[in-house]
Amino acid sequence: MAAKYIFFTGGVVSSLGKGIACSSLGLLLKSRGYKVTIVKLDPYINVDPGTMSPYQHGEVYVTNDGAETDLDLGHYERFIDTDMSQINNTTAGQIYNNVIQKERRGDYLGATVQVIPHITDEIKNHIKMVAEKTKADVVIVEIGGTVGDIESLPFLESLRQFRLQNKPEDTLVVHLTLVPFIAAAEELKTKPTQHSVMRLREIGIQADILLCRTDRKLDISTKEKIGLFCNVSSQAVKTALDVKTIYEVPIQYAESGFDDLVLERLQLPKNQLEISALREKINRYKKVDKQIEIAICGKYVDLLDAYKSIMESFIHAGMENDVKVSLKWINTETIEHDGLGDKLAGCSGILVPGGFGERGIEGKLSAIRYARENKIPFFGICLGLQCAAIEFARNVLGETKANSTEFDPNSPSPVIHLMEHQREISNKGGTMRLGSYPCKLKNGTRAFQAYGNDLIDERHRHRWEFNNSYRQRFEENGMIISGLSPDEKLVEMIELKDHPWFVGCQFHPELKSRLSKAHPLFREFVAAAIKFSSL
Ligand code: GLN
Repeated sequence: MAAKYIFFTGGVVSSLGKGIACSSLGLLLKSRGYKVTIVKLDPYINVDPGTMSPYQHGEVYVTNDGAETDLDLGHYERFIDTDMSQINNTTAGQIYNNVIQKERRGDYLGATVQVIPHITDEIKNHIKMVAEKTKADVVIVEIGGTVGDIESLPFLESLRQFRLQNKPEDTLVVHLTLVPFIAAAEELKTKPTQHSVMRLREIGIQADILLCRTDRKLDISTKEKIGLFCNVSSQAVKTALDVKTIYEVPIQYAESGFDDLVLERLQLPKNQLEISALREKINRYKKVDKQIEIAICGKYVDLLDAYKSIMESFIHAGMENDVKVSLKWINTETIEHDGLGDKLAGCSGILVPGGFGERGIEGKLSAIRYARENKIPFFGICLGLQCAAIEFARNVLGETKANSTEFDPNSPSPVIHLMEHQREISNKGGTMRLGSYPCKLKNGTRAFQAYGNDLIDERHRHRWEFNNSYRQRFEENGMIISGLSPDEKLVEMIELKDHPWFVGCQFHPELKSRLSKAHPLFREFVAAAIKFSSL
């Protein structure tokens, strides 16, 4: 079967949840037996978000094949439970880069290289290439940005051409828009939607389905009004209600008949929808009244998008442990300024997430020491493992100046250092240890217990590594090296012997937690925190 293509555009304002909308429709189509993939087209000029600050871009999501991508790819994987790869995200920067390289090679045979057709062809070819490589029945394409942005124009123009060049029943455009309720008038307002659909029509794109974000149900007369002004039938105006958890979105879509309509328009058989397990999971989770608090001691705590996958992993782990995990965000610089005080009081677990740079490190070390000495469940991810190693070297081994050479290049006790082959690298983009690597677990450890397996694969994004010359002293003093690369050259996991749950990993487990299956380390960390809370 030739692939079908569903394009998502966004209107009125950003942050309407286009990524969640694509993922939710993807989940429903997959539940009906279709092979689905999702591509994100980002209009910015950066080649990838790897070099962007979390303040600009939120979390950088890493795929198995080591691409640094938009955080929406995390939603795609979590919802449709399918691994994405580097082809699932491209940017204006990548597209232009490819075209410029071809131009330099002389591929265009003397032609003037232009946005139309060269850039637009490159975009369309990318979408077709994804369909071919993934052999998906349905390719969902999320066009980043908001209709009306100058940056998105080449992508939208490609969409116009794509429709022209493919059968009408093979492509579909869903426009996600906002229908705000204006309290003073006590009315839902349709004008912003009318205007954003008008902008689309001005550039030759007629949306097929309007997905309207609202905080209340759209009544039939509002739907008729939107339909009339926007040139679609009122049946194609769908309500996308605000919901409590993003994982309810697919259920709400199914109830509104959104996926039915999509299949009708694409002339695809309406196979039986299988989402009873999801419904059950969500209903059960909604009834959970037990709650625990876990502290996240990090740097970007005023920008929660920087820790998106960690937050979602706690929801998945909460679902499997019948508990609501409330996260207490602690900026570790505040620990440096005013001490620990009672900042961690009442927390049943402490997590130190990944990060870069020196800011807030000493505060992280204080939090880790507190977790180690008070036997509070601790989970260190990437930089979190590195800090746990520094803290252990300083306060257990007595190496008071222990550090990572990232923060103190001349440390006399460099427990975390650069591997030989990393030292020569000067380019910042895409030069870290990136993507999936195998790891061997030691029998009888917490890590082994969690995974129930001695060989795992996890995703990395870092430059610094544990310094092997400290391995023996760590082990002799109660820090177990529980995970190693198969050649035993790299320390991937550590854990404390005499502690209820103190685990650090060099990789990012949060990138592999799924709605259908929580990540084993998050599941076990939450289980340990529940135990601690009932002591
Ligand atoms: N800054 C550390 C490194 O590059 C940790 C990176 C991370 O936490 N992702 O090794």
